[in-house]
Amino acid sequence: EAKGTGKPFHRFTTELDQHSTEQARLGAELRAALDADQFQLVYQPIVSLPTGSLASVEALVRWVHPERGWVSPAEFVPVAEQNGLIVELGAWILRTACTQAADWRARLGTRAPARVNVNVSARQLAEPGFADVVSAALADSGLPPSCLVVEVTETAVFEGGRALETLHELHALGVLVALDDFGTGHSSLGLLQTVPVDVLKVDKSFVDNITMAGRHAVIATALINVSTGLGLTAVAEGVETAEQAAELHRLGYRLAQGYHFGKPVAEPDFGTAEVTAVV
Ligand code: C2E
Ligand code: CA
Ligand code: CA
Ligand code: CA
Repeated sequence: EAKGTGKPFHRFTTELDQHSTEQARLGAELRAALDADQFQLVYQPIVSLPTGSLASVEALVRWVHPERGWVSPAEFVPVAEQNGLIVELGAWILRTACTQAADWRARLGTRAPARVNVNVSARQLAEPGFADVVSAALADSGLPPSCLVVEVTETAVFEGGRALETLHELHALGVLVALDDFGTGHSSLGLLQTVPVDVLKVDKSFVDNITMAGRHAVIATALINVSTGLGLTAVAEGVETAEQAAELHRLGYRLAQGYHFGKPVAEPDFGTAEVTAVV
């Protein structure tokens, strides 16, 4: 009897130990990777549904590992948040994205995306000097504040003690704020009354089955109505088909992002960007 209950528990703790050992190893590797310049940003288009024109790009981080190749942020961003490295990595991401966006503006003029979206984690948002980090990235790159959109999750806004204050500081700089993965966190529409927010990024899960009448379509419709009513801009995430794009446009969405319009790439080709207008 004792053997029967003891064994699974033993195996469980062993797995847990292995897990935390692996996390610690990965954490140390990330530190070395940052020093060795192994991180890179890729950019995914956010396009206007009515015209097909490029409205913005979202910067997404990649780890170019010498042996493992391209490592997904889903694998290392949570570890970097845990060990605090995300603060330094995040500052690098901000500086790199702002410099790249300013360079596109200088080189391409009106063909450049009007904005760049940068993901910011809960840990960064809770950090007292974060608005100064943003301010310095803007000043050093010469990118106008209104060209930067900071993407935060609802959970990050709830968690961080200083998060709300930070968002107000960012707004004071003239930076825009987007709520990422909207509708999936500890979400409450009440948040929209207290958080200074400009953009709602409607999560892919609501877009996935939008062409079939059902709950997803109902929620996607409700979210575009809330956005419009509050004077916010809605962006539909994870659009993979022309049918989804057409349906979102029909519902009133004006901006969308997803593989249908373009995957994240290191150097988007703005000159011949193959984005198709819905109308
Ligand atoms: P996210 O911010 O929600 O980013 C969107 C993710 O969805 C990206 O994955 C993007 O490549 C993917 N995606 C875009 N369109 C489609 C589509 O049509 N279909 C599907 N199946 N996927 C699509 P990625 O680049 O692997 O990033 C995953 C997550 O990692 C991000 O989710 C974000 O939470 C985090 N992340 C990425 N870059 C950064 C960063 O620079 N800083 C921080 N703090 N987090 C980041
Ligand atoms: Ca995002
Ligand atoms: Ca998202
Ligand atoms: Ca997501």
